[in-house]
Amino acid sequence: PPDPSSMKISTLGGNINENSGGLRGLKYGVTRDYVLGLEVVLPNGDIIKTGGKLAKDVAGYDMTRLFVGSEGTLGIVTEAVLKLLPLPETKQTMLCLYESLEEAATSVSAIIAERIIPATLEFMDQPTLEVVEDFANIGLPTDVQAVLLIEQDGNPEAVSRDIQKIAEVCEQHGAKSVKIAHSEEEASALLTARRSALSALARLSPTTILEDATVPRSEIANMVRAIEDIARKYEVNICTFGHAGDGNLHPTCATDARNEEEMKRVEAAFQAIFEKAVALGGTITGEHGVGLMKAPYLELKVKKEGIAAMKAIKQALDPENIMNPDKVFGKASRKRVVVS
Ligand SMILES: Cc1cc2nc3c(=O)[nH]c(=O)nc-3n(C[C@H](O)[C@H](O)[C@H](O)COP(=O)(O)OP(=O)(O)OC[C@H]3O[C@@H](n4cnc5c(N)ncnc54)[C@H](O)[C@@H]3O)c2cc1C
Repeated sequence: PPDPSSMKISTLGGNINENSGGLRGLKYGVTRDYVLGLEVVLPNGDIIKTGGKLAKDVAGYDMTRLFVGSEGTLGIVTEAVLKLLPLPETKQTMLCLYESLEEAATSVSAIIAERIIPATLEFMDQPTLEVVEDFANIGLPTDVQAVLLIEQDGNPEAVSRDIQKIAEVCEQHGAKSVKIAHSEEEASALLTARRSALSALARLSPTTILEDATVPRSEIANMVRAIEDIARKYEVNICTFGHAGDGNLHPTCATDARNEEEMKRVEAAFQAIFEKAVALGGTITGEHGVGLMKAPYLELKVKKEGIAAMKAIKQALDPENIMNPDKVFGKASRKRVVVS
C-alpha cells in the first residue's frame, strides 16, 4: 500500500531506508507499517535477522523499526518480510474546488470528524494547479485557490456511501464545486496529475527544491498561510501541495542554484518554514528523511539530547562511520546539494 510518488523508480531498499509514504498514507500508513522483518548486513560484516512473520514476537528490542527509516546509516538491508493486503474491491475519486485555503483545510478535518478515513486526501494550491495543468493538460481548474483530491476504496456499498457523505461535507464547508470521476481513466488522470506535481514544477526553473514540512492536520491552513507569508517576505517563488490528510505539505521552491544571493533568501525562507512547522507541533520531514539537506535542521525537531541518543546508536553499530557518513548528522548546507 505505501505508494511514494517515486514508485516507478524507487527500490524496496530505498523505500525501507527512507520509510517512504505516499498518497495513501492517511488510511494505509507508511512503509514502516508493512515491514515485519529484515535481514541486515551490519558495518562489521555480521548478518542479523530482525522480526519475521510471527504476529506476536517481542524478543528483545524492536530492531526492525530501528532500521526502517535509518537512511542507510546503520546497515545494508538485504532481505525484507513485507505485509501484503488484498486489493480493495473498488475505488472512487473526486475533486473538490475551493475559493479559500481555510475552507479546504476545514473540510479535511470535517471529513475525518465524520469518521471517514479516505484512502487519499491530497491538497494543491492555486500556483501548483496552474503549473500541473500546463504540464498534464487534463482540464484542472486554475482559477480556484485550492483543490482537494479525494479517493476512497473498499467494498462498493461503503465507497459510494463515503463518497456521497464526503461530497456533502465538502459542500457544507465551502467547496464551490465537487466533481466525481466517472471512469477509471478520469480518476487515474487526476491521480497521475497530482503525482506529477514535482516534475511539472521542475520545468519552471533550473533548480527545484521540494520540502516536506509536516504539521498536525488541524494546522494545515495556518501552515499554508505561513508559507505564503514567508515566500513573500523573502521574495521567493514557492508552490505548495501535499498530503492534506497527513498534514504532510510539500512547499516547493523554483529557484536557481547559480544565483547566490537568491539562494541565501531561499535558505532563510526554508529555515523559517521548518521553525514554523515545529512551532505548530509538526516536523521538518514527513517522508523524505533528513539526508544531507535537512541535517542542519534536525536539532529543531529532536533537540540536542535526541541527536546525542541517535549518535550513540550510530557509534555503537558503525564505529568507523563507513555507512552514509555525512547523512542525518552532517552540518553541510543544503546549498551544496540542491536538486536540479
Ligand atoms: C520524483 C520523486 C518523487 C518522490 N516522491 C516521494 C513520495 O511521494 N514519498 C516519499 O516518501 N518519498 C518520495 N521521494 C523520495 C524517494 O524517492 C523515496 O523516499 C524512495 O523510497 C527512495 O528510494 P530509492 O530506491 O530511490 O532510494 P535511494 O535514493 O537510492 O536511496 C535512499 C537512501 O536509502 C539508502 N539505501 C538504499 N537501499 C538500501 C539498502 N538496501 N540498505 C540500506 N540502505 C539503503 C541509500 O544509501 C540512501 O541513503 C521522491 C523522490 C523523487 C525523485
